[in-house]
Amino acid sequence: MDDTIGIEDIDRMIRAAVDKIRANCNELSKMDSAIGDGDHGTSIARAMTIAEKILDESDKKDLKKLLKDVGWGVMGCDGGATGPLLGSFLMGLSDPVEGQSKIDSAMMAAMFEAGLAGVSRQSKAKVGDKTMMDALIPAVDNLRQAVDTGKTIKEALQNASEAAEKGAVSTKEFKAGFGRAKNLGERTIGFQDPGATSMALIFQGFFEGLD
Ligand code: ADP
Ligand code: MG
Repeated sequence: MDDTIGIEDIDRMIRAAVDKIRANCNELSKMDSAIGDGDHGTSIARAMTIAEKILDESDKKDLKKLLKDVGWGVMGCDGGATGPLLGSFLMGLSDPVEGQSKIDSAMMAAMFEAGLAGVSRQSKAKVGDKTMMDALIPAVDNLRQAVDTGKTIKEALQNASEAAEKGAVSTKEFKAGFGRAKNLGERTIGFQDPGATSMALIFQGFFEGLD
């Protein structure tokens, strides 16, 4: 079976992630009001609008260039921690891609691992620190495991999305170790982290965007 995805599929996956964030923008800001400064929804929606604009303007001929451009644009998004972190994730996705127009499940796993490596160069946060990493790390781990056990691209993305959601919900139990929320320490326990929630929404978009 030919289980590959092309640049148009990746375009659709990113656009679906943009839509997910937009639909939940107010809720994400509300979550940030509880443990931060209340801007996460608008900050990440602004970053995703930049991503969408770059997709609109792309000739969609070169996957590496497309991912790099999207990442670079998002990285430069002003305001808050989100732009640089999400941008380095998207930019990282481009690292292992070299001239491919179609990618298979193994390349997709390599891409997401490189995306995580990109964020890890910016942030030392680990699982349990109540950040977007609580969604991203299990998502990438589960995706890799799914691919290594012979699951399809769609199945692997579903596993990643479910793991990201579980990780996002788990942040309620943690106290913040990074970002603005760190100042509130113990008082952040009981609240779900907005950045982890948006990362879960992004993975849900990636999964649903691929038909
Ligand atoms: P800001 O905190 O600058 O207002 P946002 O509100 O847009 O930025 O984003 C807050 C989210 O960013 C947090 O919920 C958390 O998930 C994530 N975050 C903040 N700092 C870090 C970090 N050092 N590493 C990973 N994620 C972080
Ligand atoms: Mg904020």
